[in-house]
Amino acid sequence: MAGKRDYYDVLGVTRNTALEEIKKAYRKLALKHHPDRNAGNKEAEEKFKELSEAFEILSDPQKRQLYDQYGHAGLKSSFGPGGFDFSRDFTHMSDIQDLFGDLFGGGSGGIFDDVFGRGSGRRGGSSRSARGADLRFDLEIEFEESVFGAERAITIPISEECSACAGSGAEAGHKKETCRHCGGHGVVVTSAGFFRVQQDCPSCGGRGEIVTHPCRPCGGTGMVKARKQLTLKIPAGVETGSRLRLAGKGEGGARGGGAGDLYVVLHVRPHHLFQREGNDLFCEVPISLEAAALGGEISVPTLDGWANIRIAPGTENGKLFRLRGKGVPDTGGYGHGDLHVRVVQEVPKNLSGQQKKKLKEFLDACDETNCPDLAQFRTKAAEFMEHRKPSGS
Ligand SMILES: [Zn+2]
Ligand SMILES: [Zn+2]
Repeated sequence: MAGKRDYYDVLGVTRNTALEEIKKAYRKLALKHHPDRNAGNKEAEEKFKELSEAFEILSDPQKRQLYDQYGHAGLKSSFGPGGFDFSRDFTHMSDIQDLFGDLFGGGSGGIFDDVFGRGSGRRGGSSRSARGADLRFDLEIEFEESVFGAERAITIPISEECSACAGSGAEAGHKKETCRHCGGHGVVVTSAGFFRVQQDCPSCGGRGEIVTHPCRPCGGTGMVKARKQLTLKIPAGVETGSRLRLAGKGEGGARGGGAGDLYVVLHVRPHHLFQREGNDLFCEVPISLEAAALGGEISVPTLDGWANIRIAPGTENGKLFRLRGKGVPDTGGYGHGDLHVRVVQEVPKNLSGQQKKKLKEFLDACDETNCPDLAQFRTKAAEFMEHRKPSGS
């Protein structure tokens, strides 16, 4: 991230500037550098993106705090490996629309779709190429795959350009005709009192062309359903909710437009040994009465293999042990979490007559020093009961 400018500098504000003022500063600068006012000016577009990125961070209290504390590096884990990505990380679209109102094509996304690469693509009529839609694919994975990483073959249902008509939608030997209703513009303008409303042409659906002899395989849409096989690399350390972005693996574009992106959202199945919190793992390990009373060593499963824990004589039920660095690897490369082991003393069950007799003999030989908590509790409870005022009297 070398060379990335300070977000406060970008917006011309200070660290103490309140959110309202940050919004105002962003609005002013974003209006100036807006791509609609600087058509074809690549520099203005870059500037506009830089402003919007700074706004995204500084208008979000959590991200702003991370940034204040750790700078750009602090936001690493908030974004993907490639850093800030508009099509994925910019979450303030509705704020922006509030800020700009209808100045730039209104609430449907308009110019923002283009700038942020979310284009639905139909704007502007037939000659315009359309970027394919982004796809979301939910994938359930095993705990082991999430902590060790894995490769998975997945099959994604997608739409792609029809090969029979090369996406034109027209049967071979037939040309498409320019839509008479809209004159090929794809949009019609109607007047409603004071307002002029522009909408997609109802006759051609915004394409500007009419297919007189539709291509059979695709029914004239130019797109067909297909199943795409992909190999997905799952990095070690992902968790439920992690999103993997596969650029260009979404829906195919139309008329030469690029394909959309594929977002794979992961869901990790629960595991019978380990629970996860952040990068830390929790594991409950039953121990015998003997180990709890006399002490000893117990074996604990970890991601790196077996580990031994020394149990002191008289270890209480539920005691937590921490094994540093035995948790889950961080996806951002920030080391490992810890493994927390809770020992749970198992009470012997299904005792035979002989066993019961022996246990009773043993317990009869015990006194207050063997069970100090129990002795203390009995004393205190008896005291309380003695001084208690019976209710209702
Ligand atoms: Zn076709
Ligand atoms: Zn039309």
